[in-house]
Amino acid sequence: MITITLPDGAQKQYESGVTPMDVAMSISEGLARNVISASVNGTKVETVTPITEDAKVILYTWRDKAGKETFWHSSAHVLAQVLEHIYPGIKLTIGPAIENGFYYDVDMPEGEVISDTDFKNIENTFMEFARQKAEFKMKSVSKADALKLYKDAGNEFKVELIENLTDGDITFCDHSNFTDLCRGGHLPNTGFIKAVKIMNVAGAYWRGDENNKQLTRVYGISFPKDKELKEYLVMLEEAKKRDHRKLGKELELFAFSQRVGQGLPLWLPKGADLRKRLENFLQKQQVEAGYEMVITPHIGSKELYETSGHYAKYGKDSFQPIDTPSEGEEFLLKPMNCPHHCEIYKFKPRSYKDLPVRYAEFGTVYRYEQSGELHGLTRVRGFTQDDAHIFCRPDQVKEEFVKVVDLVLYVLKALHFEDFTAQISLRDPDNKEKYIGSDENWAKAEAAIIEVVAERDIETVTEYGEAAFYGPKLDFMVKDALGRSWQLGTVQVDYNLPERFELEYVGSDNAKHTPVMIHRAPFGSMERFVAVLLEHCAGKFPLWLTPDQVAILPVSDKYNDEAKKLSRLLKNYDLRALVDERSEKVGRKIRDTEVVKVPYMLILGEQEVASGKLSVRKQGEGDIGTFSIEEFAKLIQDDIAADLEVKE
Ligand SMILES: [Zn+2]
Ligand SMILES: [Zn+2]
Repeated sequence: MITITLPDGAQKQYESGVTPMDVAMSISEGLARNVISASVNGTKVETVTPITEDAKVILYTWRDKAGKETFWHSSAHVLAQVLEHIYPGIKLTIGPAIENGFYYDVDMPEGEVISDTDFKNIENTFMEFARQKAEFKMKSVSKADALKLYKDAGNEFKVELIENLTDGDITFCDHSNFTDLCRGGHLPNTGFIKAVKIMNVAGAYWRGDENNKQLTRVYGISFPKDKELKEYLVMLEEAKKRDHRKLGKELELFAFSQRVGQGLPLWLPKGADLRKRLENFLQKQQVEAGYEMVITPHIGSKELYETSGHYAKYGKDSFQPIDTPSEGEEFLLKPMNCPHHCEIYKFKPRSYKDLPVRYAEFGTVYRYEQSGELHGLTRVRGFTQDDAHIFCRPDQVKEEFVKVVDLVLYVLKALHFEDFTAQISLRDPDNKEKYIGSDENWAKAEAAIIEVVAERDIETVTEYGEAAFYGPKLDFMVKDALGRSWQLGTVQVDYNLPERFELEYVGSDNAKHTPVMIHRAPFGSMERFVAVLLEHCAGKFPLWLTPDQVAILPVSDKYNDEAKKLSRLLKNYDLRALVDERSEKVGRKIRDTEVVKVPYMLILGEQEVASGKLSVRKQGEGDIGTFSIEEFAKLIQDDIAADLEVKE
């Protein structure tokens, strides 16, 4: 008999040779129907793989990330089978699962190309093959046999892959009449795939090296239900409409200029205003939570980053040092604010009574990203972190974590992110020696994070072995309105920098101690956050944040002066209003205002001027009636208060 341990810690005895499918069956029939792969002692296996020793077993379904990976990996096999069938003489290279679907890189036969018009045929053949319910079967192959197979076929790519593998470790996967080099982790059979879509073809260099041959990359995505494919395609359409790069331009928030440089965002007036409001919003909370604002320069001496260890780790792949006319003097563009804040901590002696010290800065940092990696505001070369560093005693870690987590929760709520999870990254319990800092402090900090998240009832994933070598961390992942996950704020405990910078405080025992440092950034960066927010709310920002809250639309030029007067009046109520002074028909003005997503419109004509009442339209809803200025201001202020006055 062997003992199987499941993720919840439950243990059960089985005959040796039991398969993950048998284990699923013994739990529930529903699970058995949905299980698509498994992990046994950390190795991905098929549901039919016999287990012959005591093992930790995780069963995966489509709902798990690992389940999707299995699904799409298996689909890549079918795609390869299809391409080989349609294009005899094609050379298969590699075909991994990716975040959304899978691809296969192929070397097309002389004179053949795959274009959009071929997708339908590929999809139809794919589904024809999938419906055969061919089982995926792994087999071991000797290196010599594997090489012979691909040498005979003239596939130099697979030969190169196999040459880098160790004899005895080489496995193939067969399904139907098709075989491919593979490490395993498959669906029970191809029949699980009920829908497929070929998304795209693109050029890709073999092994990503532009000196190598250019291959054809075929992208696809598959699903266990036809309905899910349809939903996915609708989501993609919606995502296109919400693309922050498109909305950023339409709403005149930010721009890029090749002349300024790639990956360096330019905030336009409306965007800068919005960003300032976000900063003020956060700063207000920070001041209440006991943070002090600091300001540090955009560059720092190379020595500073040698002390912090950043130069050794990232120096080569970063912006290169700036030389000055002085001999041997070098500066780096600031890649992070932490070293500067450590030096601020050091500027005077600290006692245990002074702690915690909390320094916050909207600090702009610069990191080199390859041009191919740049993407709108989410991947840039210069960005501003809503950064802060807390220096505290080990016994204060939990209290500080509570405060940070509450701040993050407040921020998410005020910005209408309702669906989020926290990932706790802890030490690898079997490998404790690779982490710096005392065992006692680690245990304390890890327990603190786990407790705080549990107390606040946040949905959590715990990852062992994912902590940085210098401390455990907590990441917040938000799901946007389209169900896409984005990583935002991070809270990171750090035992390393305080040591490197020789930070200390005098304890109640009169001896010198090293403080614990906590890095935290609820937004991550202003750039990334605004991008995520734009895509989440499709440009309809919460009322407190949106650039123009009200558009005043005079029905003719005659009322422009009245409109301007009204806009000044609204300003007294702290409302941001624009006046559409164009000589356009009011219908046109309404349509244009809808496009730029101003939440409220005030139509101004003879009747309104005479009665002193406002005719109010709400974005997406139409006419909501007439209001006095006081009533209208209260309407907006109540809406804003609902977002902002929820803090306990
Ligand atoms: Zn495979
Ligand atoms: Zn930091």
